[in-house]
Amino acid sequence: METPSPAPAIHPPATIAGPSDEDLWTRSKAVIAGGVNSPVRAFNAVGGTPRFLVRGRAGHVVDSQGRELVDLVNSWGPLILGHTHPDVVAAAIAAVEAGSTFGAPTVGEVELAEQVVDAVPSIERVRMVSSGTEAAMSAIRLARGATGRTKVLKFVGHYHGHSDALLVEAGSGLATLGIPGSPGVTPGAVQDTVLVDFNDRDAVTAAVDAHADDLAVIACEPVPANMNLVPPDDGFLQFLRDEADRVGALLLFDEVITGFRLARGGAQEVTGVRPDVTALGKVVGGGFPLAAFGGSAEVMAHLAPDGPVYQAGTLSGNPVAVAAGAAQLRLLTDEVYARLDDVTTRLADGLAQALGDRAVVTRFGTLAGIVFGIDTPPRHFADVAAADHDAYGRFFHGMLDRGVQLAPSGYEVLFTSAALTDDDVDHVLEAAADTVADW
Ligand SMILES: *Cc1c(COP(=O)(O)O)cnc(C)c1O
Repeated sequence: METPSPAPAIHPPATIAGPSDEDLWTRSKAVIAGGVNSPVRAFNAVGGTPRFLVRGRAGHVVDSQGRELVDLVNSWGPLILGHTHPDVVAAAIAAVEAGSTFGAPTVGEVELAEQVVDAVPSIERVRMVSSGTEAAMSAIRLARGATGRTKVLKFVGHYHGHSDALLVEAGSGLATLGIPGSPGVTPGAVQDTVLVDFNDRDAVTAAVDAHADDLAVIACEPVPANMNLVPPDDGFLQFLRDEADRVGALLLFDEVITGFRLARGGAQEVTGVRPDVTALGKVVGGGFPLAAFGGSAEVMAHLAPDGPVYQAGTLSGNPVAVAAGAAQLRLLTDEVYARLDDVTTRLADGLAQALGDRAVVTRFGTLAGIVFGIDTPPRHFADVAAADHDAYGRFFHGMLDRGVQLAPSGYEVLFTSAALTDDDVDHVLEAAADTVADW
């Protein structure tokens, strides 16, 4: 095996290495539950000790030991332009200097809302919140309030945040840790959640028929990216639209990952299928805690203060987050999406070549995923669950040793950024070929 080459450096070389990963991890576990503030950051599925990151710029991050990594996580999606884009940083600094929060209407949130309404085809009115969990949870409450119905049809392996009613068979984070549902979620909280396999039309029709009069909403990730990447079969999203219409239910697209990533207008722009309600997060906040949900003026009029469906937040539409989000969205031109598409395509094609029949590399536009130990692209959660997750773990560590940061779980996708250079792409592909060379 050759000596792993480090990622091409864009940071000045670190002169002083900080405490070791092991020391930091020991300290962290002594005071933070499980050592992490979100379970997906732990290395339970791949083994080893997480790296502690101290800096990021463009397509790279630097850890506490001064090791530079090409970043294919990008904070799990928000950083579509890579780290510390100067315009996003400047907007956030200006906003924090002007006042970090007011709890009153601000000009910035109107500007961000105008951008969202302009970009996302089905959204006429939007409401900002602080996390994707809140966005999806609130969208479900809205759908139930607007229809006066109770049941939610949800797909196995789709993640809509960790609110009680949606935390069942919920994809990557739980699947990584082998947790089917969560203790603490009562049977009552999920009794109105109906589970169906994605890409299974017969199962959807049966569930819709069974709950026709009670079905408030069909909720999905339109291009599922929390059970690795499982693109919808041709026509499946339109089928869901028709099934919802058939019984007077609403259709919810959770575009927390796909929104502003597949295109400015998300999966609904790319596929032409229009949901009634959309959840947004990740990219929309520019790397700050901001998410949103929206829909037609009619549906959104059910929300307080215009209507009776209650939803609120002290820091909702926070000025700093709004400024950063708006700055990032302003930069998302056609050229940026073309670059992102090019980078993602070259990575997916190159990884497919490097990995050969060891893995299937799936791509849907600017999203890509790697699944080891299967022969055909996954169509259901079970296909990904049956994959060779130990092989993913070995690949993960081989890449990390060679200066490439992947998500520490085979249930996750590649989150690319437009800041990745051609050298970065070459480096990733060389690292992949080198990693599997002696398997
Ligand atoms: C990340 C994610 C969420 C939850 O967003 P948070 O900001 O982590 O609460 C919801 N839905 C999807 C599809 C996601 O990927």
